[in-house]
Amino acid sequence: MKKILKVAILFGLSGAASLSQAACSFDVEVGDYLKFSAADMTVEKSCESITVNLKHTGQLPANIMGHNWVLSKNAEVQAVATEGMSAGLAASYVPQGDARVVAFSKVIGGGETTSITFSTSGLTAGEGYTFFCSFPGHSYSMRGAFNVNA
Ligand code: ZN
Repeated sequence: MKKILKVAILFGLSGAASLSQAACSFDVEVGDYLKFSAADMTVEKSCESITVNLKHTGQLPANIMGHNWVLSKNAEVQAVATEGMSAGLAASYVPQGDARVVAFSKVIGGGETTSITFSTSGLTAGEGYTFFCSFPGHSYSMRGAFNVNA
């Protein structure tokens, strides 16, 4: 409950809509801490594509407190995160050319923004997906449900 309230307050300040409502485009904030501003995200299969705008409001550089946004099926998050660590910062801590990675953004540091757009054609309605940060050590705290509605 505490977590949900904090997210609600963040959105209250920024004027953004609740991400638990289905949408095709999302603004997600991160900072010098291990948390996404979105607790969960819901999209509709009718979206032609999904856009995620990631903003790092902190001050620490990408090699210290970098964050990205990675999407995988629930069961594959752990393996992708573990293998991503050895891929390194230049590869955004994501295994390259890996089909288990549905979408990913580059790693950004404080003051930076990045944006990714990906097709919904690879998403299955009702399938359980998780978005997470693959920076080493972050995926346990920085993750949330990504729901795909029919
Ligand atoms: Zn992170």
